[in-house]
Amino acid sequence: PLVLGIETSCDETGIGIVRGHTLLANTIASSMEEHARFGGVVPEVASRAHLEAMTPTIESALATAGVKLTDIDAIAVTAGPGLAGALLVGVAAAKAYSLGLGVPLYGVNHLAAHVAVDQLEHGPLPKPCIALLVSGGHSSLLLVPDVSEDVISLGSTVDDAAGEAFDKVARVLGLPFPGGPHIDKAAVQGSGTAVAFPRGKIDDGTFDFSFSGLKTAVARWVEAREASGQSIHVPDVAASFQEAVVDVLTRKALQACKKYGVHDLLIGGGVAANSRLRALAQERCDKAGVRLRVPRPGLCTDNGAMVATLGSDLVAAGIAPSSLEIPADSSLPITTVHV
Ligand code: ATP
Ligand code: MG
Ligand code: FE
Repeated sequence: PLVLGIETSCDETGIGIVRGHTLLANTIASSMEEHARFGGVVPEVASRAHLEAMTPTIESALATAGVKLTDIDAIAVTAGPGLAGALLVGVAAAKAYSLGLGVPLYGVNHLAAHVAVDQLEHGPLPKPCIALLVSGGHSSLLLVPDVSEDVISLGSTVDDAAGEAFDKVARVLGLPFPGGPHIDKAAVQGSGTAVAFPRGKIDDGTFDFSFSGLKTAVARWVEAREASGQSIHVPDVAASFQEAVVDVLTRKALQACKKYGVHDLLIGGGVAANSRLRALAQERCDKAGVRLRVPRPGLCTDNGAMVATLGSDLVAAGIAPSSLEIPADSSLPITTVHV
């Protein structure tokens, strides 16, 4: 099926068009520049930007894909979780297109879409697989029986998400928002063993994470150095912080594979774009005999193709479409794949 996916859960207006697992267009308009000076996404500004970007972004995606609106077989949209006002714009647009074109509507979970998108690059997901989902708002280990079925949550962060920790530490180090990519870049010039930062909840026997203690430890360390007039080598601090995060993430992900006897690990979400996470995960998977799948960085961060991919899977699995009454659900649970 030819599926158009709409993503508006945060600051990206993402429109993706796929045919099955073939990517035809992935067009993104971001309002990040408007938020950067506030050091975080401003919900009202994001909603307004989605409204303005929706029609031109859809037109541009159709042109890239070389298809007409009337060729579309189904509309998929992020129904949650995310910013309520931002989600609302995408859901309203999706309903309008579904009704106007007379094609089915599929409301999908943004987080499940972060998992499904990998299939555009690496083909159908093995059943089952373990998914490590690490993004700006979430950090979870999931047991995924099948992309179109509800997932089982093995554990998640008890405080900050991994991406949130990257963004907060970047601010402490004077790097721009969003900080993840800047820490990744700075860390290349630094040493991951320069400072021994704490690894929260490591080897505690659960699949939960904690990053707020680490974030505080970095802030305290920087403050102490500044107070005593010592200079701070940003690349070393960035690399040491990053090492602490990716050490815990990969360690727990492989423990989950072992416990559940699963030989396929997928990493998804914005933080999956991190170069050190990708390298360490590969190293540890090779050692453990686990196959690793990570989408290319451009598919890890928010986009419409991920939504279209999951929609396409739901159509292929014969799942009943969503009602035109579905709400935008800002706190849609991670275990609910479609609404
Ligand atoms: P969620 O998916 O939980 O709703 P979100 O959609 O805001 O959150 P994503 O777009 O999936 O988040 O990911 C954005 C996060 O990924 C930000 O915190 C950003 O700093 C982080 N990130 C992006 N690239 C990198 C990178 N190379 N290294 C580390 N973090 C990164
Ligand atoms: Mg974003
Ligand atoms: Fe996301």
